[in-house]
Amino acid sequence: MSAKILDGKAIALELRESIRAEVDRQVAAGKPRPGLAVIMVGDDPASAVYVRNKKIACEKAGFNDVSEVLPAQTTQQEVLALIDKLNADESVHGIIVQLPVPAHIDPEEIIERISPCKDVDGFHPYNVGRLATRMPIMAPCTPHGVMTMLAKTGIQLRGLDAVVVGASNIVGVPQLLELLNERATVTVCHSATKNLAHKVAQADLVVVGVGIPEMVKGDWIKPGAIVIDVGINRMDDGRLVGDVEFEVAKEHASWITPVPGGVGPMTIATLLENTMKVAYHLDCKAK
Ligand code: NDP
Repeated sequence: MSAKILDGKAIALELRESIRAEVDRQVAAGKPRPGLAVIMVGDDPASAVYVRNKKIACEKAGFNDVSEVLPAQTTQQEVLALIDKLNADESVHGIIVQLPVPAHIDPEEIIERISPCKDVDGFHPYNVGRLATRMPIMAPCTPHGVMTMLAKTGIQLRGLDAVVVGASNIVGVPQLLELLNERATVTVCHSATKNLAHKVAQADLVVVGVGIPEMVKGDWIKPGAIVIDVGINRMDDGRLVGDVEFEVAKEHASWITPVPGGVGPMTIATLLENTMKVAYHLDCKAK
């Protein structure tokens, strides 16, 4: 068997085009353009690439990009003051802080300062709590993008045995909640998990976000399983490699995401989707 490829690039493009069409409709009806503020502190090169890609994505979607790049020595109080200003600005619908931040900045205090109604990354404890209590209003972009991709397979998630490998706040834990809300039966694995290969081999659906190249071996995959690889690892020779041994896994899986061109493009598209939701569709009462 050779798996069908879940083409994140194509699905993300489709989503971005539908967002652009909606923005054009809303603007023609007199509504404002969605405004997205990406706050970056310092000059981490990988972050600079992400921020530039977000800027380009904003322009293509017809959003106002109100990003702020602050010098590395910016203080915690200065970042908080900027967030207060953006929270109060009606033309700004989404605010995110590009992680990682320099060591003297406390990311938790920063994230909690963003209004939950503008928290388009879905990292604020209010939004995590809403997702955990099955009343999501803003879901973290990468796991929610995975759900959009899974919908494209046409496969019902209800009742599937799912294994999520990785338990971070931005990937594994919200992925667990998203899948649980669709009534999958979910096992979450992390660095202290025993018999990982055995657990993965039981799964109808495997989502991997660990950050170790090809850690999940292809021959662990149950025949016909869906494999979603969130991992992005840059190798010494410049290649991008996922956390799953793709070439072998694709001979076992029914569907599989490639790296690059899988989950990666969905994250920015979902960020735009969340921001558009705030601009036009969300009645958020959180303080
Ligand atoms: P983190 O380092 O925050 O989390 C890694 C997780 O993997 C932790 O839960 C850790 O366990 C677990 N882990 C580590 N070693 C093992 C092991 N041997 N077996 C099982 N689990 C293990 O990483 P992120 O969640 O931020 O990112 C994970 C990957 O996803 C990275 O490659 C990153 O680049 C990629 N990523 C891709 C995105 C995209 O847009 N496609 C977006 C975000 C991330 P423990 O909790 O015990 O420490």
